[in-house]
Amino acid sequence: MYAQRLERARARMEQLGVDALLCSVGPDLPYLTGYEATPLERLTMLVMRREGAAVLVVPRLEAPRVEARADIFTVEPWDETDDPIVRVAAHVRGARSVAIGDHTWARFVLALQDALPDARFCAASTVTGPLRVVKDAAEIEALRVAARLVDEIAVTMRERPFAGRSERDVHRELVERMLDCGHERANFAIVASGPNAASPHHEPTDRIIAPGEVVLCDFGGTRHGYCSDITRMFHVGEPSAQVRDAYDALVAAQEAGVVAATAGTPCEVVDAAARRVLADAGFGDAFVHRTGHGIGMDAHEDPYVVAGNTTPLVAGHAFSIEPGVYFPDRFGLRLEDIVVARDDGPDRLNHAPRDLAVVD
Ligand code: ZN
Ligand code: ZN
Ligand code: ZN
Repeated sequence: MYAQRLERARARMEQLGVDALLCSVGPDLPYLTGYEATPLERLTMLVMRREGAAVLVVPRLEAPRVEARADIFTVEPWDETDDPIVRVAAHVRGARSVAIGDHTWARFVLALQDALPDARFCAASTVTGPLRVVKDAAEIEALRVAARLVDEIAVTMRERPFAGRSERDVHRELVERMLDCGHERANFAIVASGPNAASPHHEPTDRIIAPGEVVLCDFGGTRHGYCSDITRMFHVGEPSAQVRDAYDALVAAQEAGVVAATAGTPCEVVDAAARRVLADAGFGDAFVHRTGHGIGMDAHEDPYVVAGNTTPLVAGHAFSIEPGVYFPDRFGLRLEDIVVARDDGPDRLNHAPRDLAVVD
């Protein structure tokens, strides 16, 4: 599988006239080799030329973590007193066009630009993006399993008490549950109660959740390299008519977005489908963000479901459909599922109930 991906990356380099691909921290390296670089001041970097074996330049103390794959790359450990930039530059010498990983630390990019004054640098995503955006069957299965895990957490939370607990406490529970059920990493767990829910990316605080409030929970992690991401809404006690009305419109908007997400449909048309429902219900101004983002090894990646993105969905695109409505100083609501476009229609990966869960 990795050999195939490297082959496809090389074909793309050929097509773009890229002589060398440099991958460090971020998802490109594990996508191409199965190895994930530790985000450290000590540089790890895969150097791949259009021809010849790829070389993984890695700190000696990280080398034991590397699973040798002699068929796809050789390992070149560097010692504490070596300069890894010199090592990488030696492998890149002569390259006119260099693609470097989008997540690479600026200090390494700057040092490499100094060491390779004749090279033109571009983002590695120009090479890897089109490969990674279309998920194969194994990747979709990995996303499906990750989605199922957070679904179960969302279902469990319906039976949990919220009132009297702090946002931070619920946040900790979500993180713990994600790790317990098989995620190697919890990427985020937004818990936003009452007026805090009007801030889409609210950071959990010590605020105590009170009866009569909404609680927005948006959480996701990484399992076997692939991300989960779900948003469900909870309400402590019976919601007001005002909250109900907005929530009903939101559910309809999310459904419209999912239904529109068929292969061949431009991303912006999917965004418009969800947006129109909220606008028609009088909540157009309250929906302040795009409808969704792609998901895979990165929690947010292409394709973005946003006005202006004319890219048509193709089978294998995986993305969120997550409209929201936000009323400053009052409350906010969001509903999010991960969806995969398929030739026979949208394939929703999340199945936790989508109603407004009334909790204690
Ligand atoms: Zn978000
Ligand atoms: Zn989310
Ligand atoms: Zn999301």
